[in-house]
Amino acid sequence: MIASDLRSGVEQLGDMIAAATMIVPFTGAGISTESGIPDFRSPGGLWTRNRPIPFDEFVASQDARDEAWRRRFAMDATFAAARPSRGHRALAALYKAGKIPAIITQNIDNLHQLSGFAPDDVIELHGNTTYARCIGCGLAYDLGWVKERFDGEGRAPDCTVCDEPVKTATISFGQSMPEDAMRRAVELARQCDLFLAIGSSLVVWPAAGFPQPAKNSGARLVIVNNERTDQDDHADLVIRYDIGETLGPFVGN
Ligand code: NAD
Repeated sequence: MIASDLRSGVEQLGDMIAAATMIVPFTGAGISTESGIPDFRSPGGLWTRNRPIPFDEFVASQDARDEAWRRRFAMDATFAAARPSRGHRALAALYKAGKIPAIITQNIDNLHQLSGFAPDDVIELHGNTTYARCIGCGLAYDLGWVKERFDGEGRAPDCTVCDEPVKTATISFGQSMPEDAMRRAVELARQCDLFLAIGSSLVVWPAAGFPQPAKNSGARLVIVNNERTDQDDHADLVIRYDIGETLGPFVGN
């Protein structure tokens, strides 16, 4: 059912939150646009400007690695300035209140952790862009370390231990999904009694695959997104309004 206006959407969502014992949110790039981080597919979004660099290309080509890191450094100021949005803060308040055990996210911006979620309770399906890892041995690196090498040597650095390329700790197209995160996410979707899909276009796997197991296990499904998604017909409530406006009333103090 589609909320006829923002106010009734917020009221119905409030009733569902009050009735729920275990809420699992699933978030996409739309929750972070209010924080100043562009999403992928909206006009002006990242995808309209840069073709994503697939994983095999990153591994095979120094030029691709240099370009990937140039793009990441170009986003430095944006990520550094980003603060949790009203959406992030509302979910953090429900987490603190014990209604949300953990959150599933496609986002890589670390803003759920910054809003108050314990790192272990943020299930990152696509990793995290605020630090780097060697793609061979997995050793973690600060972005500052990478930047220093990149500026000094004019090329993306390799791991000091195993000589394999160092990459942001994100999952690129063509890279395998983190198994543990996927397993936990599916389990949570099946266990909850209210599943909130927030700010995701729900077009790419695995995003598109989460609402259904939740529904099949008896949870209610709410979709908050300012444009239509292919899963709207399966939702108990669709709020097609701004995320900050919708979740703002749940931020608390
Ligand atoms: P997407 O860009 O495909 O979809 C975002 C959706 O949110 C769109 O449907 C858009 O209309 C909607 N939206 C944007 N701002 C909104 C607002 N204020 N209120 C309501 N709706 C709003 O994003 P996705 O489905 O998450 O897929 C993008 C992929 O790119 C993700 O998997 C993620 O890894 C990566 N990404 C992450 C970030 C981030 O970490 N913040 C940003 C861009 C892309």
